[in-house]
Amino acid sequence: MYDLKIVIIGAGIGGLTTGIALTKAGYQVEIYDRVKELRPAGAGISLWSNGVKVLNKLGLGDKMAAIGGQMNRMQYRSCKDELLNDISLQPLIAEVGQRPYPVARTDLQQMLLEAFTGTVKLGSKCVGFEDVGDSVTAIFEDGNSATGDLLIAADGVRSTLRAYILGTEIEPRYAGYVNWNGLVKASEDLAPKNTWIIYVGEHKRASMMPVGGDRFYFFFDVPLPKGTSTPPEARQQELANFFQGWPQPVQNLIKQINPFETNRLEIHDIGPIDTFVRGRVALLGDAAHSTTPDLGQGGCQAMEDAEVLTRYLLTTNISVEDALKRYERERKERANAIVLKARKRADQIHGKEPEITEQWYQQLRQESPLDVTNAISKTILGGPLR
Ligand code: FAD
Repeated sequence: MYDLKIVIIGAGIGGLTTGIALTKAGYQVEIYDRVKELRPAGAGISLWSNGVKVLNKLGLGDKMAAIGGQMNRMQYRSCKDELLNDISLQPLIAEVGQRPYPVARTDLQQMLLEAFTGTVKLGSKCVGFEDVGDSVTAIFEDGNSATGDLLIAADGVRSTLRAYILGTEIEPRYAGYVNWNGLVKASEDLAPKNTWIIYVGEHKRASMMPVGGDRFYFFFDVPLPKGTSTPPEARQQELANFFQGWPQPVQNLIKQINPFETNRLEIHDIGPIDTFVRGRVALLGDAAHSTTPDLGQGGCQAMEDAEVLTRYLLTTNISVEDALKRYERERKERANAIVLKARKRADQIHGKEPEITEQWYQQLRQESPLDVTNAISKTILGGPLR
């Protein structure tokens, strides 16, 4: 289909990648976001090869390589500093045809914003829409509106538009653990600079991975009841308590973090939900299939959505509604499977059933590195770009 005007709500990874893909395909695109200034939530993200391939197709491969970290190995160590597994990522890269890139979120967002040639309007909170059959109009809190041939709701895990599409509200589900994350200067007293290191034990994790600019993206996970909070000034002490007795690099990391730039968040996911589309309106990214970060696939799935949605608009010509239904059919199967797989993995890592977590620690000791990379390759190769 040609000459479509497309309105996107949300300028996160999903909305921006979709905006780039659709403008490159020749469509007119406007993106609206409620915030006055775009600041990504979270410090870093690991973009696995399926996400990177979408960016490659959009001509952003070199730029991605420039801001991404060189992650050549993955290493699991126990909280007693026993080496559990040391994994070269080379077999994975050879199998899937593209290296993964851990990246600082601000760098990724900046790159996507610069690549998007349509318009971005900030300070525009969408409160609903009106689908009148041959067009759809997004309605904003300030009384403005935007009309297009289709509306993409890329408004995140707490999507406002999702309830209109599903006909019912759904509450994100607490995954049972808290995640702290941020960036630190890379140094050898923390981890080798080309390695994603993951310390595991006591149902917790402490991890660092290299991102561009000679930095590590770090995260900590601890299972906790819902509703705990700690002010930034107390976060270093909180982590020191949770990770008391863990290996020296973890202690060094806790000392080196800036607690005021360390995010602390309760991890949620949603669904899986069966409806991504109603008429001329489509959910995309976390709004449709927010997943726990335990496979590092949420942002990658939003990028896959962008690729598939654009492909159906370009290659089918029955109607907008028909193209969106095809998008829904393809994406709900893949993305919902990832939501469930990541949920299972989150439970395995964080001691939902302690004996399963103990078995996982044993498995890490015994598993061949190739089995680990083959499992990741399988997830990557389930995407639309092989
Ligand atoms: P968002 O990034 O949430 O963007 C939604 C946008 O919509 C926001 O800008 C918001 O302001 C705007 N908005 C919301 N409501 C409205 C409204 N009513 N009107 C207008 N604008 C609105 N993914 C990976 O691929 N790899 C990883 O390693 C990884 N690690 C993660 C680690 C953590 C701790 C977490 C929490 C997530 C991680 N993810 C990872 C998942 C990834 O961050 C998300 O899947 C991704 O950011 C989703 O992008 P999105 O554009 O769908 O939503």
